[in-house]
Amino acid sequence: MKPLSESEYRESIVLHADSLFQRGYAPGSSGNISVRLNDGILLTPANSCMGYLEPTSIAKIDFQGKHISGGKPSKEMIMHLKFYEARPEAAAIVHLHSTYAVAVSCLEDIDKQDAIPPITPYYVMKIGLLPVAPYHPPGDIALADAVAALAKEHAVVLLANHGPVVSANTLDAAVYASEELEEAAKLYLLLRYCDVRTLTPDQIAYLKKPKS
Ligand code: ZN
Repeated sequence: MKPLSESEYRESIVLHADSLFQRGYAPGSSGNISVRLNDGILLTPANSCMGYLEPTSIAKIDFQGKHISGGKPSKEMIMHLKFYEARPEAAAIVHLHSTYAVAVSCLEDIDKQDAIPPITPYYVMKIGLLPVAPYHPPGDIALADAVAALAKEHAVVLLANHGPVVSANTLDAAVYASEELEEAAKLYLLLRYCDVRTLTPDQIAYLKKPKS
């Protein structure tokens, strides 16, 4: 599939951001989306609501974070930069403060190597493992470093007491995986005190096997 042009990516970010906002995944001015281009990174602007972006307001920065065009980049820029540096296959990142995933990120007793158990096949296929990065303030270099350390091995990281960071090889895939994660977090909390049947190792292996 032909990669989109920069202006098409700007349009696509605006549409996805609006859709996420409309459905309550990105309340207030929270959340940010980025796309890696050949000559820099597009990132949603600082202090902006995901429901009211304009294509020209999307910030463009180089791989060191220097501003090239558009609005002022989100203060979570450093986390996006370090994530891309650590994970060459990532082409897009969606970071949300979506309610249920944030709720899971605040639980004391979750498994820090894998916060949500394998409860549904789509969760297993789109997310897999969900490691938790320890808490640091938003925008802090220590948070970006903690995320980057996990991003080497994982496409998705949950920030403790903060929210999910989801990468994929396309923008559409990163958005869909973010939605899948939020739904899985919701199910996990609904089922938290129930006797849950998780998928077995054999069932998980089947889902992860490449299909011909
Ligand atoms: Zn955040």
